[in-house]
Amino acid sequence: MDKTQARHKIEELKAVLWENSRRYYVENAPTMSDYDYDMLMKELEALEKEYPEFATPDSPTRKVGSDLDGLSDGFAQYPHKYPMLSLGNTYNIGEVEEFAARASKSLQGTFNYCCELKFDGTAICLTYRNGLLYRALTRGDGVVGDDVTANARQISNIPLKLKGSSWPEEFEIRGEVLMPYASFERLNAERLAAGQPLFANPRNAASGSLKLLDSREVARRGLFCTLYHIPVQSVSFDTHDEALRAAMDWGLPVSEHRRLCRDISEIEAYISEWDVRRRSLPFATDGIVIKINEMDCQRQLGYTSKFPRWAVAYKFKAEDALTRLVSIDYQVGRTGAVTPVANLEPVRLSGTVVKRATLNNADQMALMDIRVGDYVHVEKGGEIIPKITSVELSRRPSDAKPPVFPSVCPDCGSALVKAEDEAKWFCPNADGCPTQIKGKLVHFLSRKAMNVIAGDATIEQMYDASLVRTPADFYDLTKMQLVHLDGWQDRAADRFLESLKASREVPFERVLYALGIRYVGETTAKEIAAHFGSMDAIAAASREELLAVPDVGEVIAESVERWFDNPSHAIELQRLRASGLQFSSEGKESLSNALEGMTIVISGNFSISRDEMKKLIEANGGKNSSSVSSKTSYLLAGSKPGPEKIKKAAELGVQVISEKDLMSMLPSSGPSGEDEEPFSETLWG
Ligand code: NAD
Repeated sequence: MDKTQARHKIEELKAVLWENSRRYYVENAPTMSDYDYDMLMKELEALEKEYPEFATPDSPTRKVGSDLDGLSDGFAQYPHKYPMLSLGNTYNIGEVEEFAARASKSLQGTFNYCCELKFDGTAICLTYRNGLLYRALTRGDGVVGDDVTANARQISNIPLKLKGSSWPEEFEIRGEVLMPYASFERLNAERLAAGQPLFANPRNAASGSLKLLDSREVARRGLFCTLYHIPVQSVSFDTHDEALRAAMDWGLPVSEHRRLCRDISEIEAYISEWDVRRRSLPFATDGIVIKINEMDCQRQLGYTSKFPRWAVAYKFKAEDALTRLVSIDYQVGRTGAVTPVANLEPVRLSGTVVKRATLNNADQMALMDIRVGDYVHVEKGGEIIPKITSVELSRRPSDAKPPVFPSVCPDCGSALVKAEDEAKWFCPNADGCPTQIKGKLVHFLSRKAMNVIAGDATIEQMYDASLVRTPADFYDLTKMQLVHLDGWQDRAADRFLESLKASREVPFERVLYALGIRYVGETTAKEIAAHFGSMDAIAAASREELLAVPDVGEVIAESVERWFDNPSHAIELQRLRASGLQFSSEGKESLSNALEGMTIVISGNFSISRDEMKKLIEANGGKNSSSVSSKTSYLLAGSKPGPEKIKKAAELGVQVISEKDLMSMLPSSGPSGEDEEPFSETLWG
């Protein structure tokens, strides 16, 4: 690889890692397995080592993955007293040996290792002041975390008041919030019934739950906490183990199953033992953490920008299970792609029962030479849906049958089509196939599109009652029609109609995204909207004009052109326009969703005019309000703010932020590329 190739590869790896980090930490919906993510990270590390001139401080190899997100927020943010870092990790026991050898070389005297389970949840930092729980912060970006104290109070094993009196006046203790498998399965079953998206794994469910705005719902989620670290600066103990024992005496839920080990052979014995025993724990663990026990040694070894040098995580590979393929279903998604889904003999895998797995596409099925009745290996990575990784040919029964990929849509019976360069078969009946219609309706109302409060089941119910067939039908719904639906009360109907009303203010670029034009994901919609400025201009654009938009190639241009040329879409657009949706960017420039859901009151003078500041807030998805109330997210104070507003904010506990704070909440030139994969599908919907 020459230098230019290395630079490109580094850029590419950084973009992929950033995007997957966002999906994992912010969306709580990873689409890549942890192992694959970690391998890409190692590849980037190696390249940056070889070409240090291309290593930048913002590289994912040097920064902790951030869960901070303007979208779902509504949480105040506070800086951590001491940075909350990640852990160096490895899947290779040889690298644990190297870690131990390095530690022995740099440290004088004897020391021990404290081996602990690596709990697979979401990190939390608790501060106790005068024996009382004072604040709980998420890891955030490692420097600043979201204040989730109200939610932490709902986690039953986090004490609000400590036992005894020997605790320091103020100290921090860190650990993990976890969701046991049983709660996870119950939650996903409820979400499935309500037509809501499922959580990929207990880690994502714990993390999503800790960031809920409704603390009562947090209490229902069955979370628990386990604590494993008191920052060395926070207390004066000689060893990590002593600090944890003291914390236990103060009534804190300290991590169980830790063991002091003297050398690498004891560490290896601990790892082997727990690789087996962890399978019977009621919650997820993804490895073992090995820490130097002596605080003095920890101080000597210190930290990199991303992790402590005195600890390392040994991660277990994803578990694999062998089970029988009972049958194959063929499901149509929103874009018409037909995905084969395997029905399996139920098998326990990583603490949950697996009954279904993805088979991706016909080519992959052929490649594996899979047959119904075969024994197959199933693996569960970070993704929601387990995958079949291989067929156990030695156990193939004599009557195993090669599957027959359907030639017609399993839903509407249209003949399936497949483009030469595509792996998937498609149902071409985009506007007539019920599953595709429902998928498009769900997409239209989804959070990043029109952001209307309605679960998939609600939309299905409206569809089944023949109330909606196209997005414009939503805007014709009346309260009378809604309250006649099963289970609908006045309040639910009002809430839905209010949410629809609010969607009329959704900026043009998101309306364009909501239309569900194939290949036009969020980022592409933003670019096309910014380039043309209005729906009419896009509809009138020629192929060449579409191709002039950055990142729009032949495939996207053709898809947009085809969509706008369809006469039924022209009628749909007329109806949506008449319903009052934003059809142009005029005066409503949208820069980001960073302030979505936030109501901000501004007071005082800023570096830009007050009108410009209000526009900036709106352009980033926020709402302006003129008076401070309990619904205010922030009071943005410039120079000479109104004293009354400041007083009211203090009374109501509304956080006062500066212009600089606001700017730090807005995206600068961070990574992008969140476009929908051309053929990505929601398997269960
Ligand atoms: P990590 O999960 O690998 O390890 C660090 C974390 O472990 C700590 O922050 C802490 O929260 C936790 N932990 C659990 N038990 C602990 C104990 N006993 N002592 C100390 N810490 C303990 O690191 P991370 O920075 O949270 O996440 C990075 C990892 O997340 C990656 O290595 C990858 O596996 C995964 N990830 C996956 C994707 C994906 O797309 N699948 C994307 C981003 C990150």
